[in-house]
Amino acid sequence: MQEGPYKNAGAQKLTPDERFMKLAIREARKAYRLGETPIGCVIVRTHLYDGTALEEPQVIARGYNRRNTEKSTLAHAEIKAIAKAARVLQDWRLEGCTMYVTLEPCQMCAGALVQARISRVVIGAMNRKAGCAGSVFNLLQEPAFNHQAELTTGVLQEECAGLLTGFFSEVRRKKAAEKQQLTEMPTCRRRQNEPENDYDQADL
Ligand SMILES: [Zn+2]
Repeated sequence: MQEGPYKNAGAQKLTPDERFMKLAIREARKAYRLGETPIGCVIVRTHLYDGTALEEPQVIARGYNRRNTEKSTLAHAEIKAIAKAARVLQDWRLEGCTMYVTLEPCQMCAGALVQARISRVVIGAMNRKAGCAGSVFNLLQEPAFNHQAELTTGVLQEECAGLLTGFFSEVRRKKAAEKQQLTEMPTCRRRQNEPENDYDQADL
């Protein structure tokens, strides 16, 4: 697995955002091991509701994509973590919290983040075809809504994107191997025009 440009950097060289993104990447690897699209996130509490900064930010929830495992549209990494954070805080409001997520959230998750009134969202890789934090829409900062989140993008981007491209190239290799077997079965219809080597083509 490619570790990106930070491969040789000691933990002390990482910025706080990079350090928490590393934890989100760790979550994404859990999804990878389940055969799920590797997307992970953590929620970190940085401030109390009254705005007082915590001395030490606290990781209060983690999540990774379990859509196929749970056979649920709702089992995105962000939704899992938002639900967990609400249980921990005993409150649906995530004001004073930051989400670190390896891939730009979809419309459902961006909507949930606004509903939760999360203060800040930090993103690794962007999702050109489906992202709703600036790529397709920017639901996180829509002025017409009653809440906007602070947004930071591109944190450990190469590492986050590399996890996805690595995953999809493995999926393609497996499909190619299956296809090879199918060529020995002439009555089978084979799919043509497989997508390019790019996670943007995937149904995330
Ligand atoms: Zn989502």
